[in-house]
Amino acid sequence: MSTVPTIALNNGVSIPQLGFGVYQIPPEETKETTLAALEVGYRHIDTAQMYGNEQGVGEAVRASGLDRSDVFVTSKLNNGFHAHDDAIKAFDTSLETLGFDHLDLFLIHWPLPGIDVDFVETWQALEEIYRTGRAKSIGVSNFQPSHLRRLIQETQIVPAVNQIEVHPYLAQEDLRAVDAEHGVATEAWSPIAQGLVLDNPTITGIASEQGKTAAQVVLRWHIQRGDIVFPKSVTRSRIEENFDLFDFELSDGDMGLITALDKGQRLGPDPDTFNYIP
Ligand code: NAD
Repeated sequence: MSTVPTIALNNGVSIPQLGFGVYQIPPEETKETTLAALEVGYRHIDTAQMYGNEQGVGEAVRASGLDRSDVFVTSKLNNGFHAHDDAIKAFDTSLETLGFDHLDLFLIHWPLPGIDVDFVETWQALEEIYRTGRAKSIGVSNFQPSHLRRLIQETQIVPAVNQIEVHPYLAQEDLRAVDAEHGVATEAWSPIAQGLVLDNPTITGIASEQGKTAAQVVLRWHIQRGDIVFPKSVTRSRIEENFDLFDFELSDGDMGLITALDKGQRLGPDPDTFNYIP
């Protein structure tokens, strides 16, 4: 049913390149919204302990009637649980809340470089979890080049992914190149910049030439760059629109025009200084 390409991670696991993100979906709406996404054809869901809606994701997967093995589910370690034993316990709690016996991907959500617990310790906990088979892949999120290099130098398993903020106003050419150099797949969060880029005239111009929407053009730009994306919406028509990316192609020229919109504009915090613990 799905026309979504898959990407092979550095441990051989396949991940659908297009998924559905559930950040800011209220817990009581998560089951219904995620189920709508699964009906549309999404087979990859991105949640996090921090979002407070893992339970609804698990319920949706069960209600869909799909096999657990047909849906790729990611969750992320919350910031308060970086110490080794806390990380293991928090992972177990995620599995319990989701009602799953494994996650497809588990990430350190933020590096928190200024806190007492070193993310190397946190990663060693994720390596242990990975070796038990209860997380089929492990990775990081919001890691800058210095964080990634240190992790790779000081630990055994190279992260499968680095999930970072990427959109046309923050094209992240350098960090994506560092990921690629180490065999780490880039996942682009806030891929349409929460809507901010959708009235940009370069993007709307390409959209009208293509007969597609601005959101579809931006998501297609990510897909052609090779990144993994999971746009979020609670609106059925947009959930469908964001999935309909595989009947057109952007030229190299249009790809370059969109990348040139980069102005280093972050929507989220700077990972080098963000040390928030809830
Ligand atoms: P997004 O770029 O996916 O934008 C979502 C918003 O854009 C929606 O709330 C809606 O207002 C609008 N929208 C969606 N589809 C649209 C369409 N077709 N037309 C017009 N407007 C549309 O932003 P996001 O939710 O912040 O990011 C996507 C996912 O990335 C999240 O759900 C989450 O899974 C992940 N994420 C991860 C981190 C991290 O630190 N790792 C941070 C933020 C988000």
